[in-house]
Amino acid sequence: AKSSLHLHHEYFIAEMEDSPRRRLEIIRQLREDFDAGKLALWYQPQVALDSGEIVGIETLARWPQADGEGFVHPPSVFIPLAEYSGLIVDIGEWVVVEACAAFARLRELGLAPRHIAVNVSMPQFRSPHFSTLISETLARHALPAGALELEITESVAMDEPKIVANTLRALKRAGARIAIDDFGTGYSSLNHLRELPIDCLKIDRSFIDEIGADTSGGEAMQEAKGTTRGGMFAETIIALGRKLGIATVAEGVETAAQAEFVRAQGGTIGQGYFFARPMPFAALVDWLAARRAD
Ligand code: C2E
Ligand code: CA
Ligand code: CA
Ligand code: CA
Repeated sequence: AKSSLHLHHEYFIAEMEDSPRRRLEIIRQLREDFDAGKLALWYQPQVALDSGEIVGIETLARWPQADGEGFVHPPSVFIPLAEYSGLIVDIGEWVVVEACAAFARLRELGLAPRHIAVNVSMPQFRSPHFSTLISETLARHALPAGALELEITESVAMDEPKIVANTLRALKRAGARIAIDDFGTGYSSLNHLRELPIDCLKIDRSFIDEIGADTSGGEAMQEAKGTTRGGMFAETIIALGRKLGIATVAEGVETAAQAEFVRAQGGTIGQGYFFARPMPFAALVDWLAARRAD
Protein backbone atom coordinates (compact mmCIF):
# COMPACT_ATOMS: atom_id res chain seq x y z
CA ALA A 1 0.00 0.00 0.00
CA LYS A 2 2.88 2.30 0.84
CA SER A 3 4.50 2.00 -2.58
CA SER A 4 1.28 2.60 -4.48
CA LEU A 5 0.72 5.75 -2.42
CA HIS A 6 4.26 6.81 -3.26
CA LEU A 7 3.70 6.18 -6.96
CA HIS A 8 0.51 8.13 -6.86
CA HIS A 9 2.33 11.04 -5.25
CA GLU A 10 5.07 11.02 -7.92
CA TYR A 11 2.46 10.98 -10.61
CA PHE A 12 0.72 13.93 -9.01
CA ILE A 13 3.95 15.94 -8.91
CA ALA A 14 4.74 15.16 -12.55
CA GLU A 15 1.24 16.23 -13.47
CA MET A 16 1.54 19.53 -11.61
CA GLU A 17 4.88 20.36 -13.13
CA ASP A 18 3.44 19.91 -16.55
CA SER A 19 0.82 22.58 -16.05
CA PRO A 20 1.81 26.04 -17.35
CA ARG A 21 0.76 27.72 -14.10
CA ARG A 22 2.90 25.34 -12.05
CA ARG A 23 5.85 25.91 -14.38
CA LEU A 24 5.57 29.68 -13.98
CA GLU A 25 5.37 29.26 -10.23
CA ILE A 26 8.59 27.18 -10.21
CA ILE A 27 10.33 29.78 -12.37
CA ARG A 28 9.24 32.59 -10.03
CA GLN A 29 10.47 30.65 -7.01
CA LEU A 30 13.75 29.77 -8.76
CA ARG A 31 14.41 33.41 -9.62
CA GLU A 32 13.69 34.46 -6.05
CA ASP A 33 15.95 31.80 -4.54
CA PHE A 34 18.72 32.41 -7.08
CA ASP A 35 18.65 36.17 -6.36
CA ALA A 36 18.76 35.40 -2.64
CA GLY A 37 21.92 33.30 -3.16
CA LYS A 38 20.21 30.06 -2.26
CA LEU A 39 21.40 27.86 -5.15
CA ALA A 40 24.42 25.68 -4.46
CA LEU A 41 27.10 23.93 -6.48
CA TRP A 42 28.05 20.32 -5.92
CA TYR A 43 31.11 18.65 -7.35
CA GLN A 44 31.83 15.20 -8.81
CA PRO A 45 35.38 13.91 -9.38
CA GLN A 46 36.64 12.52 -12.69
CA VAL A 47 39.25 9.79 -12.39
CA ALA A 48 41.99 8.66 -14.80
CA LEU A 49 41.27 4.98 -15.42
CA ASP A 50 44.90 3.91 -15.80
CA SER A 51 46.53 5.71 -12.85
CA GLY A 52 43.58 6.48 -10.56
CA GLU A 53 44.65 10.12 -10.57
CA ILE A 54 41.87 12.70 -10.11
CA VAL A 55 42.00 14.70 -13.33
CA GLY A 56 38.89 16.83 -13.14
CA ILE A 57 35.74 17.82 -11.30
CA GLU A 58 32.30 18.44 -12.79
CA THR A 59 30.23 21.22 -11.26
CA LEU A 60 26.50 20.44 -10.83
CA ALA A 61 23.86 22.94 -9.76
CA ARG A 62 21.60 22.17 -6.79
CA TRP A 63 18.50 23.87 -5.40
CA PRO A 64 18.51 23.06 -1.68
CA GLN A 65 15.45 23.39 0.53
CA ALA A 66 15.55 26.10 3.17
CA ASP A 67 15.69 23.50 5.98
CA GLY A 68 18.75 21.90 4.39
CA GLU A 69 16.97 18.55 4.38
CA GLY A 70 16.66 17.97 0.65
CA PHE A 71 16.17 19.68 -2.67
CA VAL A 72 13.32 21.81 -3.98
CA HIS A 73 13.64 20.27 -7.46
CA PRO A 74 16.38 18.30 -9.24
CA PRO A 75 18.37 19.93 -12.09
CA SER A 76 16.41 17.82 -14.59
CA VAL A 77 13.38 19.93 -13.60
CA PHE A 78 14.79 23.40 -12.89
CA ILE A 79 17.52 23.64 -15.55
CA PRO A 80 15.08 23.25 -18.48
CA LEU A 81 12.82 25.86 -16.83
CA ALA A 82 15.79 28.18 -16.35
CA GLU A 83 16.62 27.72 -20.03
CA TYR A 84 13.02 28.35 -21.06
CA SER A 85 12.77 31.52 -18.96
CA GLY A 86 16.21 32.90 -19.90
CA LEU A 87 17.28 32.78 -16.26
CA ILE A 88 19.98 30.27 -17.25
CA VAL A 89 22.19 33.10 -18.54
CA ASP A 90 22.49 34.61 -15.04
CA ILE A 91 22.65 31.21 -13.35
CA GLY A 92 25.28 30.06 -15.85
CA GLU A 93 27.41 33.15 -15.21
CA TRP A 94 27.22 32.50 -11.47
CA VAL A 95 28.24 28.86 -12.07
CA VAL A 96 31.34 29.91 -14.03
CA VAL A 97 32.38 32.50 -11.42
CA GLU A 98 31.70 30.20 -8.47
CA ALA A 99 33.36 27.14 -10.05
CA CYS A 100 36.52 29.12 -10.85
CA ALA A 101 36.62 30.50 -7.30
CA ALA A 102 36.25 26.95 -5.95
CA PHE A 103 39.01 25.70 -8.22
CA ALA A 104 41.32 28.56 -7.14
CA ARG A 105 40.65 27.58 -3.53
CA LEU A 106 41.58 23.94 -4.30
CA ARG A 107 44.82 25.19 -5.85
CA GLU A 108 45.62 27.13 -2.66
CA LEU A 109 45.00 23.94 -0.69
CA GLY A 110 47.24 21.94 -3.04
CA LEU A 111 44.30 19.68 -3.94
CA ALA A 112 43.38 20.90 -7.42
CA PRO A 113 43.20 18.45 -10.32
CA ARG A 114 43.86 19.57 -13.90
CA HIS A 115 40.49 21.18 -14.52
CA ILE A 116 37.04 22.01 -13.30
CA ALA A 117 34.09 21.52 -15.67
CA VAL A 118 30.82 23.43 -15.94
CA ASN A 119 27.70 22.72 -18.00
CA VAL A 120 26.81 25.32 -20.60
CA SER A 121 23.34 25.76 -22.09
CA MET A 122 22.52 27.02 -25.56
CA PRO A 123 21.49 30.60 -24.54
CA GLN A 124 24.79 31.10 -22.68
CA PHE A 125 26.77 29.64 -25.53
CA ARG A 126 25.08 32.08 -27.89
CA SER A 127 25.72 35.12 -25.69
CA PRO A 128 28.45 37.31 -27.25
CA HIS A 129 29.77 38.12 -23.75
CA PHE A 130 30.41 34.54 -22.79
CA SER A 131 34.04 34.30 -23.94
CA THR A 132 34.80 37.62 -22.18
CA LEU A 133 33.32 36.22 -18.97
CA ILE A 134 35.58 33.17 -19.30
CA SER A 135 38.81 35.10 -19.91
CA GLU A 136 38.05 37.67 -17.18
CA THR A 137 37.16 35.01 -14.62
CA LEU A 138 40.27 32.92 -15.38
CA ALA A 139 42.40 36.09 -15.11
CA ARG A 140 40.81 37.19 -11.82
CA HIS A 141 41.89 33.94 -10.15
CA ALA A 142 45.16 33.66 -12.11
CA LEU A 143 44.03 30.29 -13.48
CA PRO A 144 46.01 28.76 -16.35
CA ALA A 145 44.48 28.05 -19.76
CA GLY A 146 42.73 24.70 -19.64
CA ALA A 147 41.69 25.02 -15.99
CA LEU A 148 38.06 25.50 -16.99
CA GLU A 149 36.30 22.94 -19.16
CA LEU A 150 33.00 23.84 -20.80
CA GLU A 151 30.58 20.95 -21.32
CA ILE A 152 28.26 21.61 -24.22
CA THR A 153 25.77 19.05 -25.43
CA GLU A 154 25.98 17.49 -28.83
CA SER A 155 22.88 19.39 -30.00
CA VAL A 156 24.49 22.74 -29.11
CA ALA A 157 27.72 21.70 -30.83
CA MET A 158 25.92 20.68 -33.99
CA ASP A 159 23.60 23.69 -34.18
CA GLU A 160 24.98 25.91 -36.91
CA PRO A 161 28.36 24.61 -38.07
CA LYS A 162 30.04 27.92 -38.98
CA ILE A 163 28.84 29.85 -35.93
CA VAL A 164 29.62 27.01 -33.54
CA ALA A 165 33.15 26.58 -34.89
CA ASN A 166 33.83 30.31 -34.51
CA THR A 167 32.36 30.43 -31.01
CA LEU A 168 34.40 27.41 -29.91
CA ARG A 169 37.58 28.95 -31.28
CA ALA A 170 36.86 32.17 -29.34
CA LEU A 171 36.27 30.16 -26.17
CA LYS A 172 39.51 28.25 -26.70
CA ARG A 173 41.36 31.55 -27.15
CA ALA A 174 39.79 32.71 -23.88
CA GLY A 175 41.47 29.71 -22.24
CA ALA A 176 38.66 27.15 -22.00
CA ARG A 177 38.74 23.44 -22.78
CA ILE A 178 35.77 22.05 -24.68
CA ALA A 179 33.93 18.81 -23.88
CA ILE A 180 30.96 17.40 -25.76
CA ASP A 181 28.43 16.22 -23.17
CA ASP A 182 26.00 13.29 -23.52
CA PHE A 183 27.90 12.21 -26.62
CA GLY A 184 26.12 9.63 -28.74
CA THR A 185 22.58 10.82 -27.97
CA GLY A 186 22.47 13.52 -30.66
CA TYR A 187 23.04 13.48 -34.36
CA SER A 188 26.61 14.57 -34.91
CA SER A 189 28.01 14.68 -38.34
CA LEU A 190 31.45 13.15 -37.87
CA ASN A 191 32.76 15.44 -40.55
CA HIS A 192 31.59 18.49 -38.63
CA LEU A 193 32.93 17.08 -35.39
CA ARG A 194 36.38 16.75 -36.90
CA GLU A 195 36.45 20.46 -37.61
CA LEU A 196 35.61 21.55 -34.08
CA PRO A 197 38.36 22.27 -31.50
CA ILE A 198 37.19 19.61 -29.03
CA ASP A 199 39.28 18.31 -26.11
CA CYS A 200 36.98 15.65 -24.75
CA LEU A 201 33.98 13.43 -25.52
CA LYS A 202 31.72 12.51 -22.62
CA ILE A 203 30.05 9.17 -23.35
CA ASP A 204 26.42 9.34 -22.31
CA ARG A 205 25.46 7.34 -19.25
CA SER A 206 22.92 5.27 -21.21
CA PHE A 207 25.79 3.58 -23.11
CA ILE A 208 27.72 2.87 -19.92
CA ASP A 209 24.54 1.38 -18.41
CA GLU A 210 24.52 -1.23 -21.17
CA ILE A 211 27.89 -2.56 -20.07
CA GLY A 212 27.34 -5.70 -18.04
CA ALA A 213 23.59 -5.29 -18.26
CA ASP A 214 23.12 -8.63 -19.97
CA THR A 215 25.60 -10.57 -17.86
CA SER A 216 26.24 -11.19 -14.19
CA GLY A 217 28.94 -12.50 -11.89
CA GLY A 218 31.85 -14.16 -13.71
CA GLU A 219 30.44 -13.23 -17.07
CA ALA A 220 31.34 -9.62 -16.31
CA MET A 221 34.94 -10.47 -17.21
CA GLN A 222 33.89 -11.76 -20.59
CA GLU A 223 32.00 -8.51 -20.91
CA ALA A 224 35.15 -6.58 -20.02
CA LYS A 225 36.88 -8.17 -23.01
CA GLY A 226 34.22 -6.77 -25.28
CA THR A 227 32.96 -10.13 -26.46
CA THR A 228 29.27 -9.43 -25.86
CA ARG A 229 26.92 -6.86 -27.25
CA GLY A 230 26.61 -4.69 -24.12
CA GLY A 231 28.89 -1.70 -24.36
CA MET A 232 29.17 -1.78 -28.14
CA PHE A 233 28.36 1.92 -28.41
CA ALA A 234 30.71 2.89 -25.58
CA GLU A 235 33.41 0.89 -27.35
CA THR A 236 32.76 2.67 -30.64
CA ILE A 237 32.87 6.15 -29.07
CA ILE A 238 36.09 5.32 -27.22
CA ALA A 239 37.65 4.18 -30.52
CA LEU A 240 36.49 7.42 -32.13
CA GLY A 241 38.05 9.46 -29.34
CA ARG A 242 41.33 7.58 -29.73
CA LYS A 243 41.37 8.18 -33.49
CA LEU A 244 40.65 11.87 -32.97
CA GLY A 245 43.32 11.98 -30.26
CA ILE A 246 40.99 13.33 -27.60
CA ALA A 247 40.06 12.24 -24.10
CA THR A 248 36.91 10.19 -23.44
CA VAL A 249 35.02 10.44 -20.17
CA ALA A 250 32.66 7.59 -19.32
CA GLU A 251 29.69 9.07 -17.46
CA GLY A 252 27.64 7.21 -14.87
CA VAL A 253 30.18 4.47 -14.07
CA GLU A 254 28.53 2.56 -11.23
CA THR A 255 30.40 -0.78 -11.15
CA ALA A 256 33.97 -2.08 -11.23
CA ALA A 257 33.08 -4.08 -14.36
CA GLN A 258 32.03 -0.90 -16.19
CA ALA A 259 35.23 0.91 -15.17
CA GLU A 260 37.32 -2.07 -16.28
CA PHE A 261 35.50 -2.41 -19.58
CA VAL A 262 36.06 1.26 -20.44
CA ARG A 263 39.71 1.09 -19.38
CA ALA A 264 40.32 -2.09 -21.41
CA GLN A 265 38.88 -0.38 -24.49
CA GLY A 266 41.29 2.53 -24.04
CA GLY A 267 38.88 5.01 -22.49
CA THR A 268 40.79 7.58 -20.45
CA ILE A 269 38.54 8.93 -17.70
CA GLY A 270 35.66 7.65 -15.54
CA GLN A 271 33.00 9.58 -13.64
CA GLY A 272 30.19 8.08 -11.61
CA TYR A 273 28.95 6.69 -8.31
CA PHE A 274 31.58 3.92 -8.47
CA PHE A 275 34.23 6.60 -7.85
CA ALA A 276 32.26 9.28 -6.00
CA ARG A 277 28.83 10.90 -5.95
CA PRO A 278 28.43 14.64 -6.43
CA MET A 279 29.10 16.40 -3.10
CA PRO A 280 29.24 19.87 -1.56
CA PHE A 281 32.55 21.77 -1.60
CA ALA A 282 33.56 20.97 2.00
CA ALA A 283 33.03 17.25 1.39
CA LEU A 284 35.02 17.49 -1.85
CA VAL A 285 37.97 19.01 0.02
CA ASP A 286 37.88 16.13 2.54
CA TRP A 287 37.52 13.54 -0.22
CA LEU A 288 40.48 14.94 -2.19
CA ALA A 289 42.60 15.23 0.95
CA ALA A 290 41.84 11.61 1.92
CA ARG A 291 42.73 10.39 -1.60
CA ARG A 292 45.97 12.36 -1.38
CA ALA A 293 46.84 10.71 1.93
CA ASP A 294 46.46 7.15 0.55
P1 C2E B 1 24.82 15.91 -17.00
O1 C2E B 1 25.62 17.11 -17.35
O2 C2E B 1 24.81 14.79 -17.97
O3 C2E B 1 25.35 15.49 -15.56
C1 C2E B 1 25.52 14.16 -15.14
C2 C2E B 1 24.37 13.72 -14.26
O4 C2E B 1 24.54 12.35 -13.91
C3 C2E B 1 24.28 14.48 -12.94
O5 C2E B 1 22.90 14.60 -12.61
C4 C2E B 1 24.98 13.53 -11.98
O6 C2E B 1 24.60 13.75 -10.63
C5 C2E B 1 24.51 12.21 -12.50
N1 C2E B 1 25.42 11.09 -12.19
C6 C2E B 1 26.75 11.12 -11.99
N2 C2E B 1 27.24 9.88 -11.80
C7 C2E B 1 26.19 9.04 -11.86
C8 C2E B 1 26.04 7.61 -11.73
O7 C2E B 1 26.99 6.86 -11.52
N3 C2E B 1 24.79 7.10 -11.88
C9 C2E B 1 23.71 7.90 -12.11
N4 C2E B 1 22.50 7.33 -12.23
N5 C2E B 1 23.80 9.25 -12.25
C10 C2E B 1 25.02 9.80 -12.12
P2 C2E B 1 22.30 15.95 -12.03
O8 C2E B 1 23.31 16.58 -11.12
O9 C2E B 1 20.95 15.63 -11.51
O10 C2E B 1 22.19 16.88 -13.30
C11 C2E B 1 21.30 16.56 -14.35
C12 C2E B 1 21.54 17.43 -15.55
O11 C2E B 1 21.21 18.80 -15.26
C13 C2E B 1 22.99 17.47 -15.99
O12 C2E B 1 23.27 16.32 -16.74
C14 C2E B 1 23.01 18.75 -16.80
O13 C2E B 1 22.51 18.53 -18.08
C15 C2E B 1 22.05 19.62 -16.03
N6 C2E B 1 22.81 20.53 -15.14
C16 C2E B 1 23.22 20.35 -13.85
N7 C2E B 1 23.86 21.44 -13.39
C17 C2E B 1 23.87 22.34 -14.42
C18 C2E B 1 24.37 23.69 -14.56
O14 C2E B 1 25.01 24.28 -13.66
N8 C2E B 1 24.16 24.30 -15.76
C19 C2E B 1 23.48 23.67 -16.79
N9 C2E B 1 23.31 24.36 -17.93
N10 C2E B 1 23.02 22.42 -16.68
C20 C2E B 1 23.19 21.77 -15.51
CA1 CA C 1 27.65 17.48 -17.89
CA1 CA D 1 26.31 14.19 -19.45
CA1 CA E 1 22.59 14.98 -19.53
